This record gives sequence, structure tokens and C-alpha cells, in this order.
Amino acid sequence: MKISKKMESAVNAQMNEELFSEYLYLSMSAYFEGENLKGFAHWMREQAGEEREHAMKFYGFLFDREGAAVFGSMKKPQTRWTSPLAAFEAAYKHEQYITDCIHKLHEAAMKEGDKATMSMLKWFIDEQVEEEASAKEIADKLKMIGKSVNGLMMLDKKLGKRE
Ligand code: FE
Repeated sequence: MKISKKMESAVNAQMNEELFSEYLYLSMSAYFEGENLKGFAHWMREQAGEEREHAMKFYGFLFDREGAAVFGSMKKPQTRWTSPLAAFEAAYKHEQYITDCIHKLHEAAMKEGDKATMSMLKWFIDEQVEEEASAKEIADKLKMIGKSVNGLMMLDKKLGKRE
């Protein structure tokens, strides 16, 4: 069934949020590169790649439902953080915001009785649980590490192995 104009614009807004997520995580990756934390930089680059995939899921869905994908303008992401912990706390906060967006989108689909959009969003609702948990886990580890350079190096090595 063809997507309604209202849902088409709401799904497009979410597609653009996912693209901004990609942009934000690339900016965090660049920040970590500058700090010579290559493992952290790698982790963020992988994360950015996942966000592109999220955006493309919405992109494909829009065309499958006889709608169109429309790209908006992108706001400038933050470029510096005061510490790795500050960056991961910001990532965690951002994922909480995205979860809220997805939930609101699901509520809008429910209101319209748009079951196809509701079903498509189920994957994203589950994914957000994972996204929040992984950002929070790393932020928590960074808190435990505190000012230990050794701990930071070990975590950098570990994050560098993300596939
Ligand atoms: Fe996402």
C-alpha cells in the first residue's frame, strides 16, 4: 500500500536523522584520530557506517511504498570533545534521542494504522536497545578507567577490533 504523505515526510525526517548520526560519528572518529586513539577512531568509523545502513533502510522502504526519499540540509556536528568519556557520553545521549524519534515515528504509524511502517520500525526499536547499551558500556568503562593511561590504551586496542 502506498505510504501516506504524512508518514512519507516523517520517515524522510528519520532518514535524515540517521544521516546526521553518520555525520556526528564521523566527526567523533576524526576527533579520536586527532588524539591518536586509533582504536576509538576505528570504532566510531564503523558506527558511522552502521548509521549509513540505517538511513538506507529508510531510503529503500520509502521507494518500496511508492514514496520518495528527500535529502534535507545537514547541521554542523560538534568537532571537539573534552575527553573520550565526554564523546561517548554525547554518543549515548544522541542514541537516547534517536530512540525517542523512532518511538514517536512508531506512534505516528500506529495512529494511522500504517502496519507496514510499524512492522519495519520493529527492527529499529530493537536496534536502539543495542545502540544505547553499547555506547553506555564504553562510557562506563571510561569512567572506571579514570586517568589510567594503561587502561585507556587497553580499551583503544579492544575497540580497534570492532568488525
Ligand atoms: Fe541509527
